[in-house]
Amino acid sequence: MKIVEPWIEVEKINGIKIMKKIERACRTCYRSEGNITEDSYKKLLTNCINRGHESVLEHEKVTVRMYCDIGVYKDLTRHRFASFSIESTRYCSYDKDKYGNEIKCIRPAYIEDEKVFDEWKKAMEEMEKHYIEMKKLGATNDMCRLVLPHSTAAEVTMTANIREWKHIFELRTSNRAHPAIRQLLIPLLKYFQQEMPEIFDGIEYDKDFKKEWYAEFKISDEI
Ligand SMILES: Cc1cc2nc3c(=O)[nH]c(=O)nc-3n(C[C@H](O)[C@H](O)[C@H](O)COP(=O)(O)OP(=O)(O)OC[C@H]3O[C@@H](n4cnc5c(N)ncnc54)[C@H](O)[C@@H]3O)c2cc1C
Repeated sequence: MKIVEPWIEVEKINGIKIMKKIERACRTCYRSEGNITEDSYKKLLTNCINRGHESVLEHEKVTVRMYCDIGVYKDLTRHRFASFSIESTRYCSYDKDKYGNEIKCIRPAYIEDEKVFDEWKKAMEEMEKHYIEMKKLGATNDMCRLVLPHSTAAEVTMTANIREWKHIFELRTSNRAHPAIRQLLIPLLKYFQQEMPEIFDGIEYDKDFKKEWYAEFKISDEI
Protein backbone atom coordinates (compact mmCIF):
# COMPACT_ATOMS: atom_id res chain seq x y z
CA MET A 1 0.00 0.00 0.00
CA LYS A 2 1.40 3.33 -1.02
CA ILE A 3 0.28 6.67 0.39
CA VAL A 4 0.13 9.31 -2.34
CA GLU A 5 -0.61 13.03 -2.49
CA PRO A 6 -3.60 14.50 -4.33
CA TRP A 7 -3.17 16.96 -7.22
CA ILE A 8 -5.35 18.94 -9.56
CA GLU A 9 -4.43 20.10 -13.05
CA VAL A 10 -6.45 22.61 -15.04
CA GLU A 11 -6.24 23.44 -18.71
CA LYS A 12 -4.62 26.83 -19.22
CA ILE A 13 -7.45 29.27 -19.69
CA ASN A 14 -7.70 32.84 -20.86
CA GLY A 15 -10.37 34.27 -18.57
CA ILE A 16 -10.86 37.47 -20.57
CA LYS A 17 -11.39 35.48 -23.76
CA ILE A 18 -13.95 33.26 -22.01
CA MET A 19 -15.81 36.23 -20.55
CA LYS A 20 -15.83 38.05 -23.89
CA LYS A 21 -17.31 35.00 -25.59
CA ILE A 22 -20.01 34.82 -22.91
CA GLU A 23 -20.67 38.54 -23.41
CA ARG A 24 -21.14 38.07 -27.16
CA ALA A 25 -23.63 35.26 -26.56
CA CYS A 26 -25.47 37.22 -23.88
CA ARG A 27 -25.82 40.36 -26.00
CA THR A 28 -27.94 38.35 -28.42
CA CYS A 29 -30.71 38.74 -25.83
CA TYR A 30 -30.71 42.53 -26.13
CA ARG A 31 -29.33 42.77 -29.68
CA SER A 32 -26.69 45.04 -28.14
CA GLU A 33 -23.68 43.52 -29.90
CA GLY A 34 -22.90 47.05 -31.10
CA ASN A 35 -22.16 48.11 -27.52
CA ILE A 36 -19.20 45.76 -27.16
CA THR A 37 -16.02 47.57 -26.13
CA GLU A 38 -12.68 46.39 -24.79
CA ASP A 39 -14.01 46.01 -21.24
CA SER A 40 -17.82 46.09 -21.63
CA TYR A 41 -17.94 42.41 -20.57
CA LYS A 42 -17.14 43.42 -16.98
CA LYS A 43 -20.31 45.41 -16.31
CA LEU A 44 -22.48 43.10 -18.39
CA LEU A 45 -21.40 39.94 -16.54
CA THR A 46 -21.63 41.60 -13.12
CA ASN A 47 -25.20 42.68 -13.95
CA CYS A 48 -26.13 39.22 -15.21
CA ILE A 49 -24.87 37.55 -12.05
CA ASN A 50 -26.58 40.08 -9.76
CA ARG A 51 -29.88 39.51 -11.57
CA GLY A 52 -29.59 35.71 -11.67
CA HIS A 53 -29.35 35.72 -15.48
CA GLU A 54 -26.80 32.90 -15.21
CA SER A 55 -27.69 30.64 -18.13
CA VAL A 56 -25.34 32.75 -20.28
CA LEU A 57 -22.43 31.26 -18.31
CA GLU A 58 -23.21 27.89 -19.86
CA HIS A 59 -21.68 28.87 -23.21
CA GLU A 60 -18.10 28.14 -22.02
CA LYS A 61 -16.53 25.13 -20.32
CA VAL A 62 -13.32 24.19 -18.49
CA THR A 63 -11.71 20.75 -18.08
CA VAL A 64 -9.59 19.59 -15.15
CA ARG A 65 -7.76 16.41 -14.26
CA MET A 66 -7.27 15.37 -10.69
CA TYR A 67 -5.80 12.67 -8.53
CA CYS A 68 -8.24 12.18 -5.70
CA ASP A 69 -9.88 9.53 -3.58
CA ILE A 70 -13.10 7.68 -4.27
CA GLY A 71 -14.91 9.78 -1.64
CA VAL A 72 -14.11 12.93 -3.62
CA TYR A 73 -15.42 11.63 -6.92
CA LYS A 74 -18.47 10.15 -5.23
CA ASP A 75 -19.35 13.67 -4.10
CA LEU A 76 -18.38 15.39 -7.35
CA THR A 77 -20.35 13.05 -9.56
CA ARG A 78 -23.54 14.15 -7.78
CA HIS A 79 -23.26 17.31 -9.90
CA ARG A 80 -25.45 16.50 -12.88
CA PHE A 81 -24.25 19.13 -15.33
CA ALA A 82 -20.65 17.96 -15.42
CA SER A 83 -18.95 15.21 -17.46
CA PHE A 84 -16.60 12.66 -15.94
CA SER A 85 -14.10 10.04 -17.06
CA ILE A 86 -12.86 8.10 -14.06
CA GLU A 87 -10.27 5.39 -13.57
CA SER A 88 -12.29 2.20 -13.31
CA THR A 89 -11.89 -0.16 -10.40
CA ARG A 90 -13.48 -2.77 -12.69
CA TYR A 91 -10.77 -2.51 -15.35
CA CYS A 92 -7.66 -1.64 -13.32
CA SER A 93 -6.02 -4.65 -11.59
CA TYR A 94 -3.95 -3.13 -8.84
CA ASP A 95 -2.00 -6.36 -8.32
CA LYS A 96 -0.44 -5.96 -11.82
CA ASP A 97 3.04 -4.51 -12.55
CA LYS A 98 1.44 -1.54 -14.33
CA TYR A 99 0.04 -0.40 -10.98
CA GLY A 100 3.16 -1.25 -8.98
CA ASN A 101 1.44 -4.37 -7.59
CA GLU A 102 -0.12 -2.25 -4.87
CA ILE A 103 -3.06 -0.08 -3.99
CA LYS A 104 -2.51 3.64 -3.71
CA CYS A 105 -4.36 5.63 -1.08
CA ILE A 106 -4.65 9.41 -0.92
CA ARG A 107 -3.01 10.81 2.21
CA PRO A 108 -5.71 12.27 4.47
CA ALA A 109 -3.64 15.33 5.42
CA TYR A 110 -6.50 16.55 7.59
CA ILE A 111 -6.11 13.58 9.98
CA GLU A 112 -3.60 15.25 12.26
CA ASP A 113 -3.89 12.99 15.29
CA GLU A 114 -1.06 10.48 14.93
CA LYS A 115 -2.95 7.64 16.61
CA VAL A 116 -5.98 8.12 14.35
CA PHE A 117 -3.67 8.31 11.31
CA ASP A 118 -1.95 5.06 12.34
CA GLU A 119 -5.30 3.29 12.63
CA TRP A 120 -6.28 4.54 9.15
CA LYS A 121 -2.93 3.32 7.78
CA LYS A 122 -3.31 -0.11 9.37
CA ALA A 123 -6.81 -0.42 7.88
CA MET A 124 -5.48 0.44 4.41
CA GLU A 125 -2.65 -2.10 4.70
CA GLU A 126 -5.08 -4.76 5.85
CA MET A 127 -7.44 -3.96 2.96
CA GLU A 128 -4.61 -4.28 0.43
CA LYS A 129 -3.57 -7.64 1.88
CA HIS A 130 -7.08 -8.99 1.29
CA TYR A 131 -7.32 -7.51 -2.24
CA ILE A 132 -4.06 -9.23 -3.24
CA GLU A 133 -5.07 -12.50 -1.53
CA MET A 134 -8.43 -12.49 -3.29
CA LYS A 135 -6.61 -11.97 -6.60
CA LYS A 136 -4.30 -14.92 -5.87
CA LEU A 137 -7.39 -17.07 -5.25
CA GLY A 138 -8.68 -16.16 -8.71
CA ALA A 139 -11.16 -13.43 -7.83
CA THR A 140 -12.10 -10.99 -10.59
CA ASN A 141 -11.70 -7.20 -10.40
CA ASP A 142 -15.46 -6.98 -9.91
CA MET A 143 -15.08 -9.04 -6.76
CA CYS A 144 -11.86 -7.47 -5.48
CA ARG A 145 -13.07 -3.91 -5.80
CA LEU A 146 -15.61 -4.60 -3.07
CA VAL A 147 -12.84 -4.21 -0.49
CA LEU A 148 -11.53 -0.90 -1.85
CA PRO A 149 -12.10 1.97 0.60
CA HIS A 150 -13.02 5.62 0.09
CA SER A 151 -9.30 6.46 0.34
CA THR A 152 -8.39 4.60 -2.89
CA ALA A 153 -6.61 6.94 -5.31
CA ALA A 154 -8.07 7.47 -8.78
CA GLU A 155 -7.48 9.75 -11.74
CA VAL A 156 -10.47 11.76 -12.87
CA THR A 157 -11.04 14.02 -15.86
CA MET A 158 -13.93 16.41 -15.31
CA THR A 159 -15.49 19.02 -17.58
CA ALA A 160 -18.15 21.52 -16.59
CA ASN A 161 -19.51 24.74 -17.95
CA ILE A 162 -18.81 28.01 -16.16
CA ARG A 163 -22.24 28.14 -14.52
CA GLU A 164 -21.86 24.66 -13.08
CA TRP A 165 -18.31 25.38 -11.87
CA LYS A 166 -19.67 28.43 -10.03
CA HIS A 167 -22.34 26.29 -8.40
CA ILE A 168 -19.86 23.52 -7.51
CA PHE A 169 -17.44 26.01 -5.93
CA GLU A 170 -20.27 27.53 -3.89
CA LEU A 171 -21.11 24.12 -2.42
CA ARG A 172 -17.72 22.44 -2.31
CA THR A 173 -15.26 25.07 -1.07
CA SER A 174 -17.17 26.07 2.06
CA ASN A 175 -16.39 24.66 5.48
CA ARG A 176 -19.43 22.38 5.15
CA ALA A 177 -17.79 20.41 2.31
CA HIS A 178 -15.51 17.42 2.95
CA PRO A 179 -11.87 18.51 3.49
CA ALA A 180 -10.70 16.19 0.69
CA ILE A 181 -12.77 18.20 -1.81
CA ARG A 182 -11.78 21.56 -0.33
CA GLN A 183 -8.13 20.51 -0.75
CA LEU A 184 -8.62 20.27 -4.50
CA LEU A 185 -11.23 22.88 -5.27
CA ILE A 186 -10.03 25.88 -3.22
CA PRO A 187 -6.79 26.16 -5.26
CA LEU A 188 -8.84 25.75 -8.44
CA LEU A 189 -11.33 28.44 -7.36
CA LYS A 190 -8.45 30.83 -6.65
CA TYR A 191 -7.25 30.34 -10.25
CA PHE A 192 -10.76 30.98 -11.58
CA GLN A 193 -10.99 34.11 -9.39
CA GLN A 194 -7.70 35.35 -10.79
CA GLU A 195 -8.77 34.69 -14.39
CA MET A 196 -12.47 35.60 -14.17
CA PRO A 197 -12.99 37.88 -11.14
CA GLU A 198 -16.29 39.26 -12.47
CA ILE A 199 -17.78 35.76 -12.26
CA PHE A 200 -16.02 34.08 -9.33
CA ASP A 201 -14.98 36.80 -6.87
CA GLY A 202 -18.27 36.62 -4.97
CA ILE A 203 -17.73 33.04 -3.88
CA GLU A 204 -16.96 32.75 -0.17
CA TYR A 205 -14.60 29.81 0.22
CA ASP A 206 -13.28 28.50 3.53
CA LYS A 207 -10.40 30.91 4.15
CA ASP A 208 -9.47 29.13 7.38
CA PHE A 209 -8.70 25.90 5.52
CA LYS A 210 -4.98 25.23 6.06
CA LYS A 211 -2.88 26.09 3.03
CA GLU A 212 -0.51 23.21 3.73
CA TRP A 213 -3.45 20.91 3.03
CA TYR A 214 -4.04 22.32 -0.44
CA ALA A 215 -3.48 19.74 -3.19
CA GLU A 216 -0.66 20.38 -5.65
CA PHE A 217 -2.06 22.71 -8.32
CA LYS A 218 -0.89 22.59 -11.93
CA ILE A 219 -1.79 24.49 -15.07
CA SER A 220 -1.39 22.61 -18.31
CA ASP A 221 -1.35 23.61 -21.99
CA GLU A 222 -2.98 20.31 -22.81
CA ILE A 223 -5.38 18.12 -20.88
C1 LIG B 1 -22.29 19.86 2.47
C2 LIG B 1 -23.05 18.85 1.65
C3 LIG B 1 -23.61 17.75 2.25
C4 LIG B 1 -24.33 16.80 1.49
N1 LIG B 1 -24.84 15.70 2.11
C5 LIG B 1 -25.53 14.78 1.39
C6 LIG B 1 -26.08 13.61 2.00
O1 LIG B 1 -25.96 13.41 3.19
N2 LIG B 1 -26.75 12.72 1.23
C7 LIG B 1 -26.95 12.92 -0.12
O2 LIG B 1 -27.58 12.11 -0.77
N3 LIG B 1 -26.41 14.01 -0.73
C8 LIG B 1 -25.72 14.94 -0.02
N4 LIG B 1 -25.18 16.03 -0.66
C9 LIG B 1 -25.32 16.15 -2.12
C10 LIG B 1 -26.38 17.19 -2.49
O3 LIG B 1 -27.64 16.87 -2.01
C11 LIG B 1 -26.43 17.34 -4.02
O4 LIG B 1 -26.83 16.11 -4.59
C12 LIG B 1 -25.11 17.72 -4.63
O5 LIG B 1 -24.50 18.74 -3.90
C13 LIG B 1 -25.32 18.16 -6.09
O6 LIG B 1 -25.78 19.48 -6.10
P1 LIG B 1 -27.11 19.99 -6.82
O7 LIG B 1 -28.27 19.12 -6.54
O8 LIG B 1 -27.25 21.45 -6.49
O9 LIG B 1 -26.89 19.80 -8.26
P2 LIG B 1 -26.30 19.88 -9.67
O10 LIG B 1 -26.50 18.56 -10.27
O11 LIG B 1 -24.92 20.44 -9.61
O12 LIG B 1 -27.32 20.88 -10.35
C14 LIG B 1 -27.19 22.28 -10.34
C15 LIG B 1 -28.53 22.92 -10.09
O13 LIG B 1 -29.45 22.56 -11.12
C16 LIG B 1 -30.76 22.45 -10.58
N5 LIG B 1 -31.24 21.09 -10.79
C17 LIG B 1 -30.51 20.00 -11.18
N6 LIG B 1 -31.27 18.92 -11.29
C18 LIG B 1 -32.53 19.32 -10.96
C19 LIG B 1 -33.77 18.66 -10.87
N7 LIG B 1 -33.91 17.35 -11.15
N8 LIG B 1 -34.84 19.36 -10.52
C20 LIG B 1 -34.76 20.67 -10.26
N9 LIG B 1 -33.63 21.38 -10.29
C21 LIG B 1 -32.51 20.71 -10.64
C22 LIG B 1 -30.66 22.80 -9.11
O14 LIG B 1 -30.92 24.17 -8.96
C23 LIG B 1 -29.22 22.51 -8.80
O15 LIG B 1 -28.72 23.24 -7.68
C24 LIG B 1 -24.48 16.99 0.08
C25 LIG B 1 -23.90 18.12 -0.53
C26 LIG B 1 -23.19 19.04 0.24
C27 LIG B 1 -22.56 20.23 -0.45
